[in-house]
Amino acid sequence: MNAIDDAIARHERIALQVSGGRDSLACLYLLRPHWSKLTVYWCNTGDPFPETEAIMRGVRAIVPQFVEIAGNQPGVVAGFGLPSDIVPADSTTIGVVANGGGQLIQDRYSCCARTYIVPMHERMVLDGITLVIRGQKQADQLKAPVRSGAVDLGIEYLFPIEDWSTQQVMDYLREQDAPILRFYEMLDGAPDCMTCSAYWENGAAKYLKRYHPEHHVEVQRRLDIINAAVAPSIAHFNREIS
Ligand code: SF4
Repeated sequence: MNAIDDAIARHERIALQVSGGRDSLACLYLLRPHWSKLTVYWCNTGDPFPETEAIMRGVRAIVPQFVEIAGNQPGVVAGFGLPSDIVPADSTTIGVVANGGGQLIQDRYSCCARTYIVPMHERMVLDGITLVIRGQKQADQLKAPVRSGAVDLGIEYLFPIEDWSTQQVMDYLREQDAPILRFYEMLDGAPDCMTCSAYWENGAAKYLKRYHPEHHVEVQRRLDIINAAVAPSIAHFNREIS
């Protein structure tokens, strides 16, 4: 019995978490023999790419159990500020209060946690899930701090493609004749939100400009706001360090 068969045989409440990215899609195809025993969960951030929505409609149509969880990126951004890779102290909640106003900015990880990581985990607990399967890879720059086989707070984690490379994932998807979204090949990571103003290393702005120009305008507007909010701290930093 391999690790996938073994884990699935030991659990009754199993979740396959998918994002619409290439790794989770590869996991979905790899687990095809077990679809009847698991539920596919997708957290719609509330600001998904139409490409992602289209692929999730396709997934919903072919799996026996599918749950869509409602994320609320617009509400999180309205409440906690624009997500950014740099957060000046004056743009934190306390900083804005102390200054009597200013641009509220949140770090990108908190924004993701508020928008979809926490809602997904809360749903796992609510549904009594004891095995979570994800397309997490060891080669990923950003990943949960658990390895496949770990048990945390009563939930076991299984990452069937943990040791795969990105090239292996793409080759496998082609072998399976799976749909290949254009951003699987054009971006380092599948973007979760169309108006995200963070994760600058992913190069999503260029992709947006080409395929979703109206959203590119909005993201540039947000980046301009962040630029203006960050500039004083950068100037002070440069003065101190020189
Ligand atoms: S992808 Fe960007 S906008 Fe979406 S939840 Fe994460 S930080 Fe926020």
